[in-house]
Amino acid sequence: MKQKKVEGLLREKLKDRGLKVTQQRLLVLSVLAQNSGSHMAAEEVYGQIQKGYPEIGLATVYRTLQLLQEMQLVDSIYLDDGCVRYEMGHLFEGEMKHSHHHLICRKCGKIIQFEDDLLEELEVHIEKATGFHVLDHELKFYGECKDCMGQGR
Ligand SMILES: [Zn+2]
Ligand SMILES: [Zn+2]
Ligand SMILES: [Zn+2]
Repeated sequence: MKQKKVEGLLREKLKDRGLKVTQQRLLVLSVLAQNSGSHMAAEEVYGQIQKGYPEIGLATVYRTLQLLQEMQLVDSIYLDDGCVRYEMGHLFEGEMKHSHHHLICRKCGKIIQFEDDLLEELEVHIEKATGFHVLDHELKFYGECKDCMGQGR
C-alpha cells in the first residue's frame, strides 16, 4: 500500500492549514489504509484504534475522520441504513481520487466494488460543453447482488 505517500500528503495538508501532525490523525489514516476496501464506520475505526491506544476517544475519531474528509484524503459513503462509512482515496498524480465505485445490494446491503472507471471521457465532455472543471465524481449503483438473485428462484 502507498501508505507512506499518503502519510506525506497528510503531513503536507495539515501544515497548509496550520494544523499539527498528531498521533491520532496518523492513526486514523493508517487504520483506513490497512483496511482499504472494507468501508468502515467511525465506530469500527475506533474499535481498531482502541486495541493499541485506549486513550483515544470516539469523539476524537469522529472529528479526525471529518478533517481527513475535508482534506480529501478520505471518502465517505452514505448508505440507505443511515450509517456513514469511510474509505481511503486512491493516490493519483499527487492527489487523492476515489478508488472505485460502489454497487449496493438493496436486499442484503452488501457493497461490491467496481474498479473500472469509464467516466473520464464524460468528465472531458462536461468540461468542453460547460467549461466546468471536474475534479472528481461519485457514483452509486443500487440493485441485487448475485447471491440475492440466486435466492427465491
Ligand atoms: Zn469503496
Ligand atoms: Zn445481496
Ligand atoms: Zn469514477
